[in-house]
Amino acid sequence: MEKKMRILWLSAITCNGNTHSFLNYPHMEQFLDDFEFIYHPVIDSKYSLQEIVSNEIECEVLIIEGAISEEFQRGGVPIFEIIKNYSKRVQKILTVGTCATFGGIFRESDYKDTAGMHFDQDRALHNFSDFLDKTISISGCPIHPEVLVNTLYAIKKSVLLRVDNFLRPKEFYAYTVHNGCTRNEYFEYKVDNHKFGELEGCMFYDHGCQAPFTHGSCNKILWNEVNSKTRAGVPCFGCTEPSFPRDNLFNTKKNMAIPEHLPLGVNKRVYLTLAGITKAFKIDRFQKKILDD
Ligand code: SF4
Ligand code: SF4
Repeated sequence: MEKKMRILWLSAITCNGNTHSFLNYPHMEQFLDDFEFIYHPVIDSKYSLQEIVSNEIECEVLIIEGAISEEFQRGGVPIFEIIKNYSKRVQKILTVGTCATFGGIFRESDYKDTAGMHFDQDRALHNFSDFLDKTISISGCPIHPEVLVNTLYAIKKSVLLRVDNFLRPKEFYAYTVHNGCTRNEYFEYKVDNHKFGELEGCMFYDHGCQAPFTHGSCNKILWNEVNSKTRAGVPCFGCTEPSFPRDNLFNTKKNMAIPEHLPLGVNKRVYLTLAGITKAFKIDRFQKKILDD
């Protein structure tokens, strides 16, 4: 039998949301045949936190969940020291979640200079630059469990993962969340939805959907293997991006009726031209309910 890959899951300043998301991975039994946690804050593991922080125990992957600050400690040891000690030993480091990657919600914590491991939002940091080459970022609030597990299998099988400027695997983050949404036709013809949860309409024009400028696979690798936010009728909040969280998540900010944030790569002129053309159509099919009440 192939040797199990050993993982240390270290929590920093976190709500443990990524841990909970990971626990929803539908094939956990199979996963645990191939990987083992030398330490995990929730799953039974071989060593205690105290043993982890006071020794340097062999493992191949370090997973960091949560934002970090020089002031923060785990088991009485500064988190910076624990990360440095294990980063030297492991093959790969995964920053799991938007907090560990960009600082996320916990940038607002009371700890000084709270940020991600290599980035404070989109600003590069240099405390851990020796380990940049072995880091992969899995951003998301929370992470998609399949993206984490598929990345771990790629590491185990020595598959080369090409990464973007924020170290996110392109396999999962090269697309926008808009790609694969069941509402694309409504987007094309500028038909917004009227109520959250409705089957009809796109949420970009009025309800703040950030999917056209957010990188992720939420509409290609479905959540719990069945659905995504936008398919269910809730706008994408852009949780994989360095700027997350933004204010005013359910409204599209506009200047003179033009959304402040346009789809990636689309400039104002192109947007206005397309909007002018689509406005000329009134397609009956898109004005109707898909299912009768
Ligand atoms: S709801 Fe969001 S993801 Fe879906 S088509 Fe509209 S903009 Fe794209
Ligand atoms: S749909 Fe958007 S907000 Fe929801 S998980 Fe995906 S990237 Fe995050």
